[in-house]
Amino acid sequence: MKIDIDKYISQQPALANIKDQKPTFWANPYRLPENEIWNHEEFGLADVEAAEADLERYAPLIAKIFPETAKTHGIIESKLKKLDKMQAAVEKNHEFHGQLYMKMDSDLPVVGSIKARGGIYEVLKHAENIALKEGLLFSKEDDYTKLVTPTAKKLFSQYKVQVGSTGNLGISIGITAAALGFQAIVHMSYDAKKWKKDLLRAKGAKVVEYDTDFNTALRKGRAESEKDPKSYFVDDVKSKTLFLGYATSAIRVKKQFENQGVQIDKQHPVFVYSPAGVGGSSGGTAFGMKAVFGAAAHVFLIQPTTCPSIPLGMVTGLNNNVSVQDIGISGKTEADGLACPSPSVFAGDFMKPMLDGIFTVADASLFDYLRELHQSEGITIEPSSCATFEGPIKLFEDPFAKKYMKDNNLDKIENNIIHLTWATGGSMVPSEINKQNLNTYLDK
Ligand SMILES: *Cc1c(COP(=O)(O)O)cnc(C)c1O
Repeated sequence: MKIDIDKYISQQPALANIKDQKPTFWANPYRLPENEIWNHEEFGLADVEAAEADLERYAPLIAKIFPETAKTHGIIESKLKKLDKMQAAVEKNHEFHGQLYMKMDSDLPVVGSIKARGGIYEVLKHAENIALKEGLLFSKEDDYTKLVTPTAKKLFSQYKVQVGSTGNLGISIGITAAALGFQAIVHMSYDAKKWKKDLLRAKGAKVVEYDTDFNTALRKGRAESEKDPKSYFVDDVKSKTLFLGYATSAIRVKKQFENQGVQIDKQHPVFVYSPAGVGGSSGGTAFGMKAVFGAAAHVFLIQPTTCPSIPLGMVTGLNNNVSVQDIGISGKTEADGLACPSPSVFAGDFMKPMLDGIFTVADASLFDYLRELHQSEGITIEPSSCATFEGPIKLFEDPFAKKYMKDNNLDKIENNIIHLTWATGGSMVPSEINKQNLNTYLDK
């Protein structure tokens, strides 16, 4: 399919940069006023709270399956960290206002990425459904640690759990499904890093490798799963469970800000920057933050200049049915977690009324931010994760972002902004790969 986006450029001039693969800010012209957003959403805060209640019910089980979570009683959570040193480094070279924070989902236990939130949740919910149906659990008040007995393993071993992934979702689903005894099958696109495939195989999952991009791996994996009635496909593009699992982070972040004495309100807004691939984990995060913080949250997604699938999906209204290749863009990026040429159904539909805007970032900058974070704070994260810094760093410099700030009267309260960068992956990266990443310099 060939798509002509030139016709939208006169109304939305930032699209010219997107088409030319230049870093830019695209303000979402379809965003609705705060009081109208929720009339257009299929679900909202109550659904996010229900997902959180599920996770609390699963917590004793999680502590049993993954002993590293026993000390937090099966609650999988990451730190909210203030990045004073990184902020000081940024201020040396850029205009910057407000306070810089990072949500350390790069450190989430078991999986080492944001995919722990949605992925573990969806596999456990599936296991719970089977256990209730097969009489292993009598009710939702039953003892969930029954799901880690040999009887449970034998039951689950008759079932398959499959997923299509560029890497981290596969790790999350593969590890959890295999740990419960399911036959775990992960369909991986060509950009998936070798260390991720090795890790999955070591954990007992089957890895199917494709020499094609995420769209194809996803489609083939889905078709493979549909052939088998005992197979369940975790669908990054349209799974409500995954999406709500990601959204629970906002409930936790709210408590973390409160515990740190950080006030968030309309005059002291939180700006959230989520690195986005299909828009599943990133969209879920943004959705949760809007549901929990309302008008006090401004939500931004960050995509590679070589893979700007979400603005393309929104502008054309084609969502999941359009690919960046339709406008002659490769979709290839060093940020493997962001290499999804088509956006999810959620990214297009659910985000449309609430998203504030999208930054696109050059691959070369990811490695600069990776070094900056390492030098200033001693933290290493995945290149995909580093996309988050494009937000606060360009917010006060990009002409379209400046216009957005002014149009929304945010320039007057710029010193009050709490910038929440979202580190989406990192702690499982092997040290030799971290070393390579720190020494990667790409042409701009
Ligand atoms: C999954 C992932 C993202 C964001 O991806 P979505 O496709 O929007 O869910 C970003 N960074 C990393 C490291 C990831 O694993």
